[in-house]
Amino acid sequence: MTERADVVIAGGGVMGCAVAYFLAADPDFDGTVLVVERDWSYAAATTPRSWGGIRQQFSTPENVRMGLFGIEFVRQAAEILAVGDEKPDLALREQGYLFLASAAGLPVLEANVRLQQDLGAEVTLLSPAEIAEHCPWLNIEGLAGAGYGPRNEGWLDPASLMQAFRRKARDLGAEIIEDEVVGVTVGRGRVAGVALKRRGAVACATVVNAAGPQAGALARLAGVALPVVPRKRMTYVFDCRADLGEAPLTIDVTGVAFRPEGRQYLAIVSPPAERDPDTEDLEPEYELFEETIWPALAARVPAFEAIKLTNAWAGLYDYNSFDQNAIIGPHPELRGLLFCNGFSGHGLQQAPAAGRAVAELVVHGMYRSLDLTALGIHRIFADQPLREANVV
Ligand SMILES: Cc1cc2nc3c(=O)[nH]c(=O)nc-3n(C[C@H](O)[C@H](O)[C@H](O)COP(=O)(O)OP(=O)(O)OC[C@H]3O[C@@H](n4cnc5c(N)ncnc54)[C@H](O)[C@@H]3O)c2cc1C
Repeated sequence: MTERADVVIAGGGVMGCAVAYFLAADPDFDGTVLVVERDWSYAAATTPRSWGGIRQQFSTPENVRMGLFGIEFVRQAAEILAVGDEKPDLALREQGYLFLASAAGLPVLEANVRLQQDLGAEVTLLSPAEIAEHCPWLNIEGLAGAGYGPRNEGWLDPASLMQAFRRKARDLGAEIIEDEVVGVTVGRGRVAGVALKRRGAVACATVVNAAGPQAGALARLAGVALPVVPRKRMTYVFDCRADLGEAPLTIDVTGVAFRPEGRQYLAIVSPPAERDPDTEDLEPEYELFEETIWPALAARVPAFEAIKLTNAWAGLYDYNSFDQNAIIGPHPELRGLLFCNGFSGHGLQQAPAAGRAVAELVVHGMYRSLDLTALGIHRIFADQPLREANVV
């Protein structure tokens, strides 16, 4: 006999678990939720390899608003996601984000900060002298300003957020199993079910694609093209003798970003397009550090001239090759297929807002709290990108 679930969520990373939580927590939802995660060790999943950064410094209103809800939710997560007496500790550190700009980049930075402020984010525009005052360890040469969010921005432990959603969703009745979605059954313009590698056929009216970097492959199972691909991003861990104090997550004009992690530092940069193929390979590459990251770090922070690389790891961005922004919402023609994909490096902080949004679509057929229509797949069909300027 074929099994049945009302909603099948393909992928049990932070997105899949967030959607499952918001569905199970909605008093108007009385259906069944089945989260299918192919690897419970999460060895190659994106979430545990993330930096866990959370901010409001974005260039599109949807992303700013998702960031505002993200911090509000994360602050209350210990209560909201508690299971019995067990309260999750997400290790939130509000050390801020600092987006540096050259003279050429200043008009865009100013426009972004205005938008963020208009939407209620506590972000300020710093002059070079103010940057020097806040961050005396930073070389301000070539800088014309910076966007600085001293509160509400920082980072948290990504795996803890995922596990907290997972545990709470289960507690509220969602079923989470280790299996793989290997087929999506479609008939008469709508989703009819999924095929699982071990459990076999499961009938369902709704499938949520939460397959992270494999979202494009998952969509293909339903005969749908989705421009989400796995792109490798390397994190480099280094030691520095000098103590920069409570340094914010800093994004240099070169695109190189760094932040403290305990007594060490993390650094990252997106590789140039010609060295950025789609890949599932997770081997770190060191040339990027030698050629691009270290010179930029040393130029911006004199104390970083003497650093020691101690570790490196690679993770896969769930990269939307169309416009590097999330794709959220229903497929307009294939009823029952919902996307929660393509977060391109800013998905961890968007998981609360995206999870809530997808759950609202399932339960109420519309967005109720935050209208994310602009992030729908229609923009791809219409060839109208929604570009985010602040992709790290
Ligand atoms: C180095 C790095 C740094 C980052 N830094 C930040 C940051 O600072 N701030 C931020 O907001 N975001 C950041 N991100 C991005 C963020 O981590 C991701 O957007 C987010 O974790 C994506 O979550 P997900 O659940 O969609 O994907 P995943 O965590 O990859 O989960 C998807 C799951 O789907 C499963 N799956 C795939 N196919 C199937 C199938 N067919 N059947 C069953 N299961 C399947 C996979 O096993 C996987 O566990 C970063 C990412 C990286 C790589």
